[in-house]
Amino acid sequence: MGDYHNGNALLRYNSGDDPFEDRRFSKLIHDNVHGNIHLDRVLFLFLYLNLLFSLRDLKQLGLTYMVYPGAVHSRFEHSLGVYWLASDAVRRLKTYHGLELGIESFDIQTVKLAGLLHDVGHGPFSHMFEREFLPRVRGGIKWSHEDMSLKMIDYIVDEHSIDIDSNKLKKVKEMIVASKEGKSESLKEKQFLYDIVANGRNGIDVDKFDYIEQSLLILGKIILPFCACRLMETMRVIDNEICYRAKEYLTIHKLFSTRADLHRTVYMHPKVKAIELMVVDALIKANEHFQIAAQIDEPAQYWMLDDTIVKRIETSTHQDLEESRNLIRRIRRRDIYQYCNEFAVPKENLEHFRNVTAQDIICSQNSDAHLNEEDVIVTNVKIDLASGKNNPLERISFFQDYDSFEKLRLKDGCISHLLPVCYQDMIVRVYTRKPELVEAVSKAFENFQIKTYGKKTQVHATPEKKKCLKYKEK
Ligand SMILES: [Zn+2]
Repeated sequence: MGDYHNGNALLRYNSGDDPFEDRRFSKLIHDNVHGNIHLDRVLFLFLYLNLLFSLRDLKQLGLTYMVYPGAVHSRFEHSLGVYWLASDAVRRLKTYHGLELGIESFDIQTVKLAGLLHDVGHGPFSHMFEREFLPRVRGGIKWSHEDMSLKMIDYIVDEHSIDIDSNKLKKVKEMIVASKEGKSESLKEKQFLYDIVANGRNGIDVDKFDYIEQSLLILGKIILPFCACRLMETMRVIDNEICYRAKEYLTIHKLFSTRADLHRTVYMHPKVKAIELMVVDALIKANEHFQIAAQIDEPAQYWMLDDTIVKRIETSTHQDLEESRNLIRRIRRRDIYQYCNEFAVPKENLEHFRNVTAQDIICSQNSDAHLNEEDVIVTNVKIDLASGKNNPLERISFFQDYDSFEKLRLKDGCISHLLPVCYQDMIVRVYTRKPELVEAVSKAFENFQIKTYGKKTQVHATPEKKKCLKYKEK
């Protein structure tokens, strides 16, 4: 790629041709999940910029690798994967529908760029930064990695004077936030293109295809595979929307159930979550010193913020960072916050459920326990099929077979009776920051369940050996 990586040649991009077709301008790299990926000139524009390379220092699954050692792939690999699947999807649509959809080179490039850039707004440890850290240091702020991606794209384009069609850039940005905007948005021209990267209509998109397939590569022996390729084969556009062959509803169901399985088993694993809670505490204690949260206001600063922040804390000798450093050291020697127990909220209580807090548990402690709010952490984990309390299949448009041109919705009675009728789980977990308090916190947690539901809803008792843990001296 050396020829193009010099001066302005890198930054100029004539949008008139379809670089995928021209092998002179593309490069082949091998990807673990998707095999050979062709990188084209769209990538030449962005890939060599450090900003995208910083995605290499963001682990796709945050701290999951602390429990599943194979889960070390980066957001960079994911972005390449989404880029590749997005280009595959749009090319298939072009092939299946011939000229009727009017898919042009402009559209193909737009979808590919959206795939490549959709996650540039992520912070350290991905979702942890957004969901756990920021709300605690900048409460009330409305911030999302999708919106940050838009700011970062503007920054990259300005900073490197990338000569790119402003209309194309606008569409790329709209595609990236399409999943947040959902169905309410008025229908755009070629709306079906917005279904590809971040689908707001029904949640079937290549972003999920990639992260699920990547996770299955590491964990395929634990969780049954879902095959994105099969779904992509049956895509068809009707009324400006990507629809799927009715026969494939089980494949779609598998997409959402695999995602839920991965959440339960891997992404939300009790130990992964315990380590995450510690890293969040460490970042909060280091926030003042490094001004971490303030960096979301400044794209020029933000790109430098990645998972290596933990190393910076650990190797600093600054007095201000002592508490934070101690937490990281505890993680290193596996002296982690203790998971005490969990229960699933009973089905009949799901409707009016409100999040359980540390305060709720403190109020349920035995009189001799002396727990205070600092000792207890409660997490409320929602696991669903990407449609909240609703059946995900209800949001999807199908078609009967390749001879029919009508959209249809599947009725409950027509589909397999083995599929679930409840689509959401709410799991309440309790942790303690101090290992020696496992017994007292577990007891308070049981009391809370009895007080709230009239019975213990947890499946297992807290193991006896956990109750005798002591704080490990350094
Ligand atoms: Zn993504």
